[in-house]
Amino acid sequence: MDPDKRRCSRHRLSRPFATVPSEVDAVTSVRPASLPPFAPDRSESTSFARLPARGLAGIPPDWLPPGKKAAVVFTIDDVHPGTSRDSYEAGGDLDHGQLRFLIRLLTAHSKLRATLFVTADWRAKHPSVSHPLLMHIPGVRRLWCEWNTLPEGTMRIDRFPRFIEFLKNLPRVEIGLHGLTHNRGRHPTHLEYLDASEEECRRSLAGIFQIFHAANLAFVPGMSPPGWYLSHGLARAMRDAGLTFVGSSRDLVSAVHREARSGMSGLTGTSLIAPQWISGGLLNFTTNYQATSTIDRARSIIDHGGLLAIKAHVIKRAGSYVALDGLGDEYCDHLHAVFDYLETVGEDLWWTSMGEIAARCVAALPQASIGKANDL
Ligand SMILES: [Zn+2]
Repeated sequence: MDPDKRRCSRHRLSRPFATVPSEVDAVTSVRPASLPPFAPDRSESTSFARLPARGLAGIPPDWLPPGKKAAVVFTIDDVHPGTSRDSYEAGGDLDHGQLRFLIRLLTAHSKLRATLFVTADWRAKHPSVSHPLLMHIPGVRRLWCEWNTLPEGTMRIDRFPRFIEFLKNLPRVEIGLHGLTHNRGRHPTHLEYLDASEEECRRSLAGIFQIFHAANLAFVPGMSPPGWYLSHGLARAMRDAGLTFVGSSRDLVSAVHREARSGMSGLTGTSLIAPQWISGGLLNFTTNYQATSTIDRARSIIDHGGLLAIKAHVIKRAGSYVALDGLGDEYCDHLHAVFDYLETVGEDLWWTSMGEIAARCVAALPQASIGKANDL
């Protein structure tokens, strides 16, 4: 394919996804993505939840399969059924909306996979505060937070069957969790689990599972917590529910080397370029690349035998809020360039997903330990 032909700024889908545009046809033939869906009450979920967390620490030695020297994952946050008729589009316009960029990337790069982190019942009119200074005035802050909260159920995914079918038909795409509401009702609103008790986290997860079940949408056992925020209580609740992984670290600035640690957003002190078991017994991933990164950073992570973890947010603009890593023509062109480079690396690069890496690491745990945990 002529590289210029697929540039996002020059290449637009003109027909609905449901009518099967030819470029989508090309990739649907290589479905399915990979893993059996997560079910909280299935035996392996229960087994993992009962495995002592203290036995899990550090970087899993064999997180890369034999013959692979480095890996890449691509994740998109904030996906929910919001349309261009709402405050902002976040997937609800299907192939006419923001996810058209993902379709273009998947079409142009046949090895690429993606994890969409979906919010069960998104309840924020705006994903971030438009006027931070106003938040210093308590009365205004309270009123804004009330105004900003959508009624319960407005964006609940099980009420949008076309959106669910669209997600299910995306090739080489897995679904992960991104909170119940993405809105805690107080400033800062997007940190859904800030100050939440462990019991509240358990109830939130139960609510998420219920909604995903009602939507009949399978998901992998992991969450990108809103605002990167992970407390001990949330980690315990996730693990007890059978979830195995979390994406709670972001570092776009630290120099890349094998021992580098994350020090920017969310959980710090975790490996910058490898998955790592964290206290609480979840496998953590550090996002280390986004729209503002340079391709040299991607090259360095691969050269160091690491996991290149690329993040995008589905929302680009909401009022005066503009996401630096929101999907758009410019970021899409940037990502084409990154994936073009990765395609030159060769067969020893593992094009994978967070769900697949976590499944591999869990499967490698000593079965004797899991059996022992079941006997407790
Ligand atoms: Zn988010």
